[in-house]
Amino acid sequence: MLANAMALDPFFSDKRILILDKDPKEANDRTWCFWEKNEGPLEALICRDWSLIGVSENDQLAPSPILPYKYKMLKGATFYEAMKKGLAHSPNCHFVLEEVTEISPVSTAASASTETAGFLKNGHTKVTTTSGTYIAPRVFNSIFDYKPLLAQNRFPVLQQHFVGWFVRTQNPIFKPEMATFMDFRVAQKGNTRFMYVLPTSTTTALVEYTLFSKDRLKKEVYEAAIVAYLEEIKAGDYEINDTEAGSIPMTCYPFEQFNTPHLLHIGTAGGWSKPSTGFTFSNTQKQIPKLVAYLKKGKPLDQFPSKDRFWWYDHILLEVLASDNSRGKAIFEGLFKRRSAPLILKFLSQETHFFQELYIMSAADKWRFTKAFFRVLGRSFN
Ligand SMILES: Cc1cc2nc3c(=O)[nH]c(=O)nc-3n(C[C@H](O)[C@H](O)[C@H](O)COP(=O)(O)OP(=O)(O)OC[C@H]3O[C@@H](n4cnc5c(N)ncnc54)[C@H](O)[C@@H]3O)c2cc1C
Repeated sequence: MLANAMALDPFFSDKRILILDKDPKEANDRTWCFWEKNEGPLEALICRDWSLIGVSENDQLAPSPILPYKYKMLKGATFYEAMKKGLAHSPNCHFVLEEVTEISPVSTAASASTETAGFLKNGHTKVTTTSGTYIAPRVFNSIFDYKPLLAQNRFPVLQQHFVGWFVRTQNPIFKPEMATFMDFRVAQKGNTRFMYVLPTSTTTALVEYTLFSKDRLKKEVYEAAIVAYLEEIKAGDYEINDTEAGSIPMTCYPFEQFNTPHLLHIGTAGGWSKPSTGFTFSNTQKQIPKLVAYLKKGKPLDQFPSKDRFWWYDHILLEVLASDNSRGKAIFEGLFKRRSAPLILKFLSQETHFFQELYIMSAADKWRFTKAFFRVLGRSFN
């Protein structure tokens, strides 16, 4: 997305842009969903949208209109193809299939030749791959690594982890006009567990068993939960046409500490996944134009802004969920029961005003959240 935005901007036409990926990005390895108002820049690629979302409430699935938003679905393969097509028209952009093994800073070595020292005068970043080495004044890294997150305990680290099946059922049990956001009518087992259902007709849907918790489960456990859910909603016989699985970090960990003036971590690796939900796609869409504008100023990459007051809200919610992982059902069901879905989506998009945020937060268990706030605050000063 970043390479495409740069390729389309004449400001970068004299720059050489190299995209290194170990994967040719041809398979449909994920299906993205996100909400937005009106038609967005990727509208032509959207394969489905919904104006209603469902969240469980008192053992029912309560439909909520989300206007002015629409919840939109975009297939990974469609997106990759469109981006690669765009890049193919830019003679200064190159997509190279290589695995990156190391990214490290380069400083002007005293022993460097005059020519090399001139090239490196402002500091560069070196990218080593299985086939060679590249040196560039600006490197954007989207290779995510869980290890540093798990090696600390200052910031809670949960995962949004899931397995999803694209099914075709015998019985017409899905409501194609409604995307089921969070159906908590599944055993919680001490965690935050729910079903996420994206119907494309009365008999076809993506049915995803999702957790917000610390540890991933065995594949069979997710699958057994999907089987039980399909039985519960009386799907009848069904065929599985495709599957997807994933884990998205939910954390306020300071990813920006790995940035340098010449290296910026982006996407999930840069902390662009919303810590309290795992939604990443629309935040990435928002970050890219900001980053492109920032690049034009020629400022050091490690000063690209990363935190705002929403970081604190996310941190407190994660603290609550990490200290008692079973609270998710009550928190999310309660929120959607007491506040309107469009306002909640606006809040999650980080587009609300402070007073709207206070109104949203007043729907929560104040005592539990206040205690979590002080724990987070206490750790910030240690
Ligand atoms: C199955 C799935 C479904 C998701 N659904 C949603 C959703 O509905 N809505 C939403 O907002 N978010 C969703 N997400 C979260 C998030 O939007 C995606 O993970 C998104 O792709 C993150 O973008 P990214 O650029 O950070 O990472 P990626 O898209 O994963 O890009 C990283 C790239 O780096 C490449 N790479 C990795 N290691 C190396 C290496 N050593 N050398 C070279 N290349 C390497 C990979 O091949 C990949 O192409 C989903 C995630 C998954 C896994």
